[in-house]
Amino acid sequence: VIEMGTPERSVITTCAYCGVGCSFKAELNGDQLVRMVPYKHGKANRGHSCVKGRFAYGYAQHKDRILKPMIRDTIEEPWREVEWDEALAFAAGRMKGLQQKYGRRSTGVITSSRCTNEETYLVQKLARAVFGNNNTDTCARVCHSPTGYGLGKTFGTSAGTQDFDSVEKSDVVVIIGANPTDGHPVFASRLKKRLRQGAKLIVLDPRRTDIVRSAHVEAAYHLPLRPGTNVAVVTAMAHVIVTEGLVNEAFIRERCDWDEFQYYVDFVRQDRHSPENMQALTGVPAEDLRGAARLYATGGNGAIYYGLGVTEHSQGSTTVMGIANLAMLTGNVGREGVGVNPLRGQNNVQGSCDMGSFPHELPGYRHVKLPDVREIFEKAWGVEIDPEPGLRIPNMLDAAVEGTFKGLYCQGEDILQSDPDTHHVAAGLKAMECVIVHDLFLNETANYAHVFLPGSSFLEKEGTFTNAERRINRVRKVMAPLNGYEDWEVTQLLANAMGANWHYTHASQIMDEIAATTPSFANVSFDLLDEKGSVQWPCNEDAPEGTPTMHVDHFVSGKGHFIVTEYLATDEKSGPRFPLLLTTGRILSHYNVGAQTRRTANVVWHPEDVLEIHPHDAEVRGVNEGDWVRLASRSGETTLKATLTDRVAPGVVYTTFHHPATQANVVTTDFSDWATNCPEYKVTAVQVSPSNGP
Ligand code: SF4
Repeated sequence: VIEMGTPERSVITTCAYCGVGCSFKAELNGDQLVRMVPYKHGKANRGHSCVKGRFAYGYAQHKDRILKPMIRDTIEEPWREVEWDEALAFAAGRMKGLQQKYGRRSTGVITSSRCTNEETYLVQKLARAVFGNNNTDTCARVCHSPTGYGLGKTFGTSAGTQDFDSVEKSDVVVIIGANPTDGHPVFASRLKKRLRQGAKLIVLDPRRTDIVRSAHVEAAYHLPLRPGTNVAVVTAMAHVIVTEGLVNEAFIRERCDWDEFQYYVDFVRQDRHSPENMQALTGVPAEDLRGAARLYATGGNGAIYYGLGVTEHSQGSTTVMGIANLAMLTGNVGREGVGVNPLRGQNNVQGSCDMGSFPHELPGYRHVKLPDVREIFEKAWGVEIDPEPGLRIPNMLDAAVEGTFKGLYCQGEDILQSDPDTHHVAAGLKAMECVIVHDLFLNETANYAHVFLPGSSFLEKEGTFTNAERRINRVRKVMAPLNGYEDWEVTQLLANAMGANWHYTHASQIMDEIAATTPSFANVSFDLLDEKGSVQWPCNEDAPEGTPTMHVDHFVSGKGHFIVTEYLATDEKSGPRFPLLLTTGRILSHYNVGAQTRRTANVVWHPEDVLEIHPHDAEVRGVNEGDWVRLASRSGETTLKATLTDRVAPGVVYTTFHHPATQANVVTTDFSDWATNCPEYKVTAVQVSPSNGP
């Protein structure tokens, strides 16, 4: 224990890491931040935190922070440090020039799920109101975009259905493709507490993650499915529920579209979906699958939590719809203890989606093609909005390679490291004539940038983050921005340098505009948040203090919609050259591409990515514990050290993507979800062979 003494003052704010959204007291002596203490009144964490939120804030004052803007004419030239005025005039001039030369749809933006709602809202507004197009996308493209599609189609909204407190009323918890111990640690603690009280656990995951078996917790069923077969397993569970008469017919008659239900039942009862017929494909013993389906359907309140192991597949959206089908079949929607809950990875991935970051949706998930929706924003912004949906991130990169997309403003994202098929991302960035990176550090994407605008950390800004349970939490300024500006101010300066006339003086005014234009945020203001601590959207006249549980009396879509979920094998095939299947994930001590956690001197920050391989697969390749190995796929290859473990099944290998030295995404494929283009990070056919090192 390090004795820090009594702090002179403290500021309540929100962790900038995962989607749990823990509240903290930042304690200061003078201007010096001395520690982060979990805030006992924080509704998402109730006084708890994990190692990242508690200790990994050192990056905010790391020597690698870039505090002065930089520009260069070409990416081959060295950076030139300049004043803000010059950098903004340079960026604005280039972007305007590109639009004049190549048309208004030749530029776009990428918003960040690490930035606040207010910052994200302004970046998409920059695209729509200043660039004059809908070329705006978000890093949620590569994580939870299938959630938006799948839950939108079935329930009418992509929102997670519950608050975190709800798990305390669950009798059966199903975790699909998520590793909450590493990804959402504080939620995992609450879940484990409930399991120790007797709730039953079912885990669907190719790896034996910590939650399957840890201190005093053991899953009733672990279904170690073959990567890429989620839809087959979920449909087989539905088959069991339907054919064994475990359907909650009263719920379906009252709450769901009956015709669609009958059509779905005709599909799902077919023998080809039985666990026995699916066993060879999925690798899941039929008896276990039947047992898991029966337990979920009959064990009391059944809650499903899922993660990127569901979404980052070529059938990610289909699996999300299959999960929603399971919940509707069993009546597990609309009360405490049940529901369907995406465990959002980044601190504000929910918020970045809510704020209209997608190229087809204005804030509040309203389609840009709808004239009455456009009219709301046209009146508020005083511009005409392009009715044509814009480009997604992969389409921006494709268009750049083809020569029609020329300029990008990228806030708080490192797409070169985080997006799939690194070579293609690099080719797209290289083909652009103006790349503006707005970030804390010179990240990998900045290698292809012409303008670097210094960003501000979560400790240096006012705003809000929205966590995985739709809870809008306040972010408060703990210290003045080291670069002189909060991120929303930089976006405003760029917009005005391009001819706009924005005049926000505080982030609260941006939230007021969001509330005025977005029905689910109608009652939200900084004053309300300061009074209540936090609220969960929808927060409007009907629910002035927010909504902990969604779909209580009826679905947002009116009736719930059953959707047929036909399994289709991914085009990524293993074979003689690439016989193993690689799946990727994260570890507790790191966060995404590691830009923040790698810059925090602390405890056990793992210094490198390693490859988990089953001892049998290692032995036949002559690989021993700690050996360097070459990991190769059809896309590329990298070198990393191996660790032998039976956490992965034979035929499956696993690694993380936290370190640029590994560049795990050099290996991943460019296949993606059929509906949303979310990359298929979770299935790549690979070969592993001994190596002498990088
Ligand atoms: Fe931060 Fe998530 Fe850890 Fe909470 S659980 S402290 S939000 S990283």
